Amino acid sequence: MCPMPLTGLEIYKQLPKTNCKDCGHPTCLAFAMALASGKASLDACPHVSDEARAVLDSAAAPPMAEITVGTGQAAVKLGGETELFRHEKRFYNPAAVAFLISDTLPEAELSARLAAIRDLVFHRVGLEYRVQMAAVKNESGQADPFKRAVAAAAGTGLALMLVTDDPKLMAAGLEAAGQNRPLLYAATETNWEAMLELAKAHPCVLAVKARGLEALAGLAQKITAAGFKDLVLDPQPTSPAQAVADLVQIRRLAVKKRFRPFGYPSLVFAGAEDPAEEALEAALYVTKYAGVVVLKNVSRAHLLPLLTWRQNLYTDPQVPIQVEEKLNEIGTPSEDSPVYVTTNFSLTYYSVQGEVEGSRIPSYILSVNTNGLSVMTAYADGRFTAEKIAQVMKKVDLESKVKHRTIVIPGAVAVLKGKLEELTGWKVLVGPREASGIPAFAKSNFAA
Ligand code: SF4
Repeated sequence: MCPMPLTGLEIYKQLPKTNCKDCGHPTCLAFAMALASGKASLDACPHVSDEARAVLDSAAAPPMAEITVGTGQAAVKLGGETELFRHEKRFYNPAAVAFLISDTLPEAELSARLAAIRDLVFHRVGLEYRVQMAAVKNESGQADPFKRAVAAAAGTGLALMLVTDDPKLMAAGLEAAGQNRPLLYAATETNWEAMLELAKAHPCVLAVKARGLEALAGLAQKITAAGFKDLVLDPQPTSPAQAVADLVQIRRLAVKKRFRPFGYPSLVFAGAEDPAEEALEAALYVTKYAGVVVLKNVSRAHLLPLLTWRQNLYTDPQVPIQVEEKLNEIGTPSEDSPVYVTTNFSLTYYSVQGEVEGSRIPSYILSVNTNGLSVMTAYADGRFTAEKIAQVMKKVDLESKVKHRTIVIPGAVAVLKGKLEELTGWKVLVGPREASGIPAFAKSNFAA
């Protein structure tokens, strides 16, 4: 078993205690406390002795390694997590979604499936959601079909996962993968030495699989003892319930106990045949706490909610998603086009944008920086005021963009109308309370 994390006082005992401040902290004790809570790196102290460094390494290392699969544009970062719960700080690297592809697929079907996976790209609230990995599985038992499927998958620009327990076939797949730095799935109790050689030689990330946490920890320990640390863990659960229990234990032991063999991202296969059930199962694993989820069914309708859920989990809870403060053009607006005002909270802005687009009247939307707060919250907080709107109207030189002098404010802040008219001399129309009312509002006010 690995050592427990050190407390601040235990770390302090190992430091030089000169309070020289070279680490950027006022005292050695303050630095020790920062180190214990993961907020500082031991490298910041240039005076720590080699013996002390050896003792402190376990406290200084992050609880879970951050691992990169793929290279360049296709690179996917996994793990690097420090918390059990999002609200404690944040989660960092969203679970990668991989789609399984058999090397027994006929040529045309293989190309169609790869194209369908590559095209699974969605745009929502100004962000792009996509599938990151193609998991090519050797089901043929032969090298040539595997190489053909891996080469075709490598051409998609996705990160790759090569699935076979046979080191000889894995070597063939690696040959076809070129410089893609795929995830090798998987090292087992019987093949790990050969798989480790391949992972070291290329070099690649190595998935380790063993049924049950004890066996998995033992195998991971053997591989890390051989000096290899780019691992992903698969506890081979026998049911979704077992998968969640295993994933939670792995994360808990890594983060709370600093159990080194589990200090790596984990991987799980969704097993359900029905696409809707599979997406639900995957959502469970994305939530608790998979680093990679492998799916079989390629379905846009089921993938969008899964990726949306993933995105919601991995945003920073302390930083609302925001759009830029600017005058946005919807369609090709002219000097006669309506002007709507809203805040720069992404969900608010894109709701308004969608409805303005739905009105089919080219328009402007002025997104006012409220630090990502929605209309009512920003108003209550004093960040969405008549003064602020007037200031932004001036900043974007709205007067030169339209020849009319009419602006639409959200119905929820109708109270700003009088003050805004007084400050700007513009006519202020009170729009609907909900964005969904915009098409009808636009039709009755601007259709002519
Ligand atoms: Fe103490 Fe090292 Fe920081 Fe100096 S640099 S205050 S010795 S921890």
